[in-house]
Amino acid sequence: MVVDCDLHQGNGTAHILSNKDYAFTFSIHQMDLYPSNKPLSTVDIGLWAGDGDTEYLTALRAHFPRLYQEYRPDLVFYLAGADPFEKDQLGSLRLTKDGLRQRDLIVIGEARRLRLPVAVVLAGGYSAELEDTVGIHLNTIRVAQKVQRRYSQP
Ligand SMILES: [Zn+2]
Repeated sequence: MVVDCDLHQGNGTAHILSNKDYAFTFSIHQMDLYPSNKPLSTVDIGLWAGDGDTEYLTALRAHFPRLYQEYRPDLVFYLAGADPFEKDQLGSLRLTKDGLRQRDLIVIGEARRLRLPVAVVLAGGYSAELEDTVGIHLNTIRVAQKVQRRYSQP
């Protein structure tokens, strides 16, 4: 299962894995942005400029952990994009750093709670301040560490 939380729709993943019964592709992204042609993922969540933390996290919680429980993936690939950030130069989803941290906690935390292995890959990030992008990626790693400690107890 690919859980693509980059700002941009996961068009390459959707194209490569479409109609492959061994793969489930999920993408949550800003609609009014590249790519203009969005091949269908298994589940696509299209948000709009200015939606922000509440819309984003509500949409995500509507699908996780439910999709994990229904599909029971052998492995989750999580694309942890930093570009939904409010100061990103390419996008305007306007997520705060705390909203992005909660996103990480939902995607990684719910997977690990169900004992699903997760491979986290960093994705886009175009804040004018490099420290923002680095900090968001670092937060993702911290969430993964925290979740791993929580669920590695016997
Ligand atoms: Zn992107």
